[in-house]
Amino acid sequence: MLPVVALVGRPNVGKSTLFNRLTNSRDALVADFPGLTRDRQYGSARYDGYQFIVVDTGGIQGDEEGIDRAMAEQSLQAVHEADLVLFLVDARDGLTASDEHLADYLRRQEKEIRLVANKVDGIDGDSASSDFYKLGLGQVWQIAAAQGRGVSKLMKEAFKPL
Ligand code: GDP
Ligand code: MG
Repeated sequence: MLPVVALVGRPNVGKSTLFNRLTNSRDALVADFPGLTRDRQYGSARYDGYQFIVVDTGGIQGDEEGIDRAMAEQSLQAVHEADLVLFLVDARDGLTASDEHLADYLRRQEKEIRLVANKVDGIDGDSASSDFYKLGLGQVWQIAAAQGRGVSKLMKEAFKPL
């Protein structure tokens, strides 16, 4: 059985962009507006010699109703199925209430979790990421999914315990 890696986080943080990079595809729709992926999407990934299943999700805010609620439930299901959870946050937006809400949920799960600050291209990644340490999920991994920066390093570390 291949390990399953779930990408979770609020809408628009770059989950689908990372999914496409890890699967070397354009299967996941990437958009400038949030909430495009409502279902879970599975892809087979081979990255730096690691082989795994990656799951893209629609995103979760913590205060969903209606269609957003369905989207959020898909995200929780993806966490449940995962061996490793990559929790993405947006380094440009900084820490949000939704990030805190999801972090509270994730901390209660018995899962391997890596906190990933995306979109560090063109900004000071260290200062942009420092706030995320408040989430209490350990190291903040800095990446720019759109360019692939930091992704190799992240996957190498993330896979160590698996
Ligand atoms: P999702 O809703 O979490 O799946 O986010 P998407 O992958 O659809 O990306 C949302 C927006 O963020 C899109 O406009 C992407 O082009 C942009 N984006 C994703 N990754 C990066 C990145 O590493 N750097 C920058 N600057 N923008 C990014
Ligand atoms: Mg998406």
